[in-house]
Amino acid sequence: MPELNLILIGPPGAGKGTQADRLREDFKLPFISTGDIFRAHVKNETELGKQVKSILDSGGLVPDELVLEIVAGRLDEDDVQDGFILDGFPRTIPQAEALNERLQKEGRRLTAAILIDVPDEEVIKRISGRRQCVKNGHIYNVHFDPPKNEDMCDQDGSRLIQRDDDKPDVVAKRLKEYQDSTSPLIDFYDREGILRRIDGTRSATEVHDHIRAVIATLRLEDNV
Ligand code: AMP
Repeated sequence: MPELNLILIGPPGAGKGTQADRLREDFKLPFISTGDIFRAHVKNETELGKQVKSILDSGGLVPDELVLEIVAGRLDEDDVQDGFILDGFPRTIPQAEALNERLQKEGRRLTAAILIDVPDEEVIKRISGRRQCVKNGHIYNVHFDPPKNEDMCDQDGSRLIQRDDDKPDVVAKRLKEYQDSTSPLIDFYDREGILRRIDGTRSATEVHDHIRAVIATLRLEDNV
């Protein structure tokens, strides 16, 4: 059966992580978040972590060569050979081109680029309330999707924190990076005919239902 290779695009705070969590459950697909990979390196103080820490702290983008090396290594692993969900990658046109090239060489292709569309004002409101669990990265929002107990993860009981890059000045920089570097991907994937737009201002459940419906349609069209 053809594989399901998905990428999620959207500004910071669009709910990509939340949706990826749900889709991972639905489709039993491995999930690759370049942001999570970089944060783990920073936390573990690896060489790469030391190299990228100041970039992550400032809300800038890690250079393409470094990102591509990390993703290429991850895409070599066994678990992604039958499909994957990529979150936070690609984030620039060169990254998108490199991904296409890589998949083409293997006779594979992306099934869909799912754009979770949310306006800036909403993004800023959401990010200020975002909390992430220190153990497994589960995500909550104190305004819209609060944990049952304050500052504690419902799923594993660990502590919830605000990521440094969710602080206001860093968020402004991340939004600018999104507009400048990542939003051109919308046209890029539209031209390839694989862009699917989702209204990300709806509730997490509605967004999830919409994405599942889109994937169901793709499967029907493509027998994926
Ligand atoms: P995220 O959790 O996806 O918002 O990523 C957090 C940070 O990691 C970003 O603000 C960037 O500094 C870095 N990062 C993650 N993915 C990429 C990427 N594909 N290209 C460049 N930088 C990235």
